Amino acid sequence: MAWTGWSQYDAPDNLPRPAHWSKDAACREAHPDLFYPEGDSGVAHLDTAEAKRWCARCQVQDRCLADSLARGEPHGVWGGLDEKERRRLLRRQREQARAAYRQERKREEEAADVEAQSAAAPAA
Ligand code: SF4
Repeated sequence: MAWTGWSQYDAPDNLPRPAHWSKDAACREAHPDLFYPEGDSGVAHLDTAEAKRWCARCQVQDRCLADSLARGEPHGVWGGLDEKERRRLLRRQREQARAAYRQERKREEEAADVEAQSAAAPAA
């Protein structure tokens, strides 16, 4: 196929973009294995604790945690939480969202009931 020139889809990618938050990650200086402890041994617990200490002094901890929650990161320490803690947090967030939804539905039903009663009531 003959080349027909540049299109908008293959234009050179030289647009300025904001730097990704990970460029400010404290763990860039740490050994990556700390953040992926394997098993349930004492060493794994020590590595997890050490990784969390790195996270505690990381200036992008909130972004890191939010991103790991958003993509459902299944392994390792991200944003100061290990996988079990992130699963627990996600579960709690889902429960809170469900409770808020149920409460909103209940409020809407009560408002609809009041409206129906006032419409059915005879005018004084
Ligand atoms: S919060 Fe922890 S895992 Fe996330 S970038 Fe910072 S040091 Fe790394």
